[in-house]
Amino acid sequence: MADSPYWNPKMETLPREQLRALQLAKLRRVVRWAERSEHYRGTLAAAGVGPDDLSTWDDVRRLPFLTRPEWMAAQERRPPYGTLPVAGHERAIRLHTTSGTSGKTPLRALDSRKDWAWAAEMWCYGMWAAGIRSSDVGYVAFGYGSFIGFWGLHYGLEKLGALVIPGGAQPTEQRVRQIVDFGATVVASTPTYALRLAQEAQRLGIDLRSSSVRTVILSGEPAGSIPETKALIEEQWGAIACDTAGMTEISTIFMFECSHQPGGAHIIEDHVLEEVVDTATGEPVGYGEPGERVVTSFGRSMIPLIRYRTADLVVKVPANRCSCGRTFDIYDGGVRGRVDDMTKVRGTNVYARAVEAIVRHRPEIEEFQIRITTEQIRDEIALLVELSGQTGDDPRWPELSDWLHKELAAAHEGLNFRVALAPPDTLPRFELKAKRLLDERITVQRSAS
Ligand SMILES: [Zn+2]
Repeated sequence: MADSPYWNPKMETLPREQLRALQLAKLRRVVRWAERSEHYRGTLAAAGVGPDDLSTWDDVRRLPFLTRPEWMAAQERRPPYGTLPVAGHERAIRLHTTSGTSGKTPLRALDSRKDWAWAAEMWCYGMWAAGIRSSDVGYVAFGYGSFIGFWGLHYGLEKLGALVIPGGAQPTEQRVRQIVDFGATVVASTPTYALRLAQEAQRLGIDLRSSSVRTVILSGEPAGSIPETKALIEEQWGAIACDTAGMTEISTIFMFECSHQPGGAHIIEDHVLEEVVDTATGEPVGYGEPGERVVTSFGRSMIPLIRYRTADLVVKVPANRCSCGRTFDIYDGGVRGRVDDMTKVRGTNVYARAVEAIVRHRPEIEEFQIRITTEQIRDEIALLVELSGQTGDDPRWPELSDWLHKELAAAHEGLNFRVALAPPDTLPRFELKAKRLLDERITVQRSAS
């Protein structure tokens, strides 16, 4: 076992045909289990489909989708946990909520002891693939609150037998010192926070490249698979950075990047069913085509998750894109953002991800924000940046602003970005779920009264 590159050698190399058959069998079992949930009893009956109707992949499309608004409505109808759970809270051991960064009511999720064992197992697939073993020392730069974040990774590290150091709620400086003092070999954080830790280390005169950290496990933001962001993290840490992605709705990760780094992440296909559909029609799209992630979890028991519309934008490619030998398909470029992340400015598509890819070419930029406003009747887009060690009349700025202006225009059909220096420490910093695109356009014009 210790010498295998796979956490679960049999499943991770199972021929596709057998893997697909296994998924169909597991799906039938999950649908049967979900009939214990009031919500699913209703939706399955309304769609006229049950576990015994699922014999082919075409049948699977008869299963109704679950959307976030439906989940929220179920929660409001029967507070506090809604009608999705198959049992009451007495069967659960912990509650988690979504981060609620968007100002919306957070989604509440209950998990049983069995669910938590499963969540840890999923993280083990990913961490093992990144090369983490029992001799590792893992530092978890995470606040350990009600947001699910790296809780599963924590248990996964314990399951692997690694030494876990819970970073908890403390200042960034303290976390940097602990990483160095305890000889951490693995650090888990969001991509944004990995960069912030590196900036803080620089300020303290600590060279992370000569520290014992050799792996950074990223999660929580799409940026973990933006090549430019990842390259910057790897350069500043002198370590390999591997992306993972999970969500509160399934309680754990559904994909991981292996140490071969194929430019995307393998889907844990013996434990989740990941479909990619056209957002408008709900019909499946093929390999290589962008679409919306739809997830079914085979492992979560308190809250069955069947065909959940995630609004994540992904592009699936076949497993053989990677040379590691896994038969698990890959999301090329990881989670590429949200299906509604793209915005139009004067007819040109703007993706926050594409802007970030340009910004990360310049490590002297410490933080940035994209701001879209309406002036008179015209949309304007601006990029605000803060530099590390920024001074009032920063000598680096003239060259950098010219460079940014040119690169941004070239990537956006000549769209004119206003590029400006923000005063030091005025742009928001993020530990979780960075939101760097601010759309302040006036969309509703009131009639003159
Ligand atoms: Zn691989």
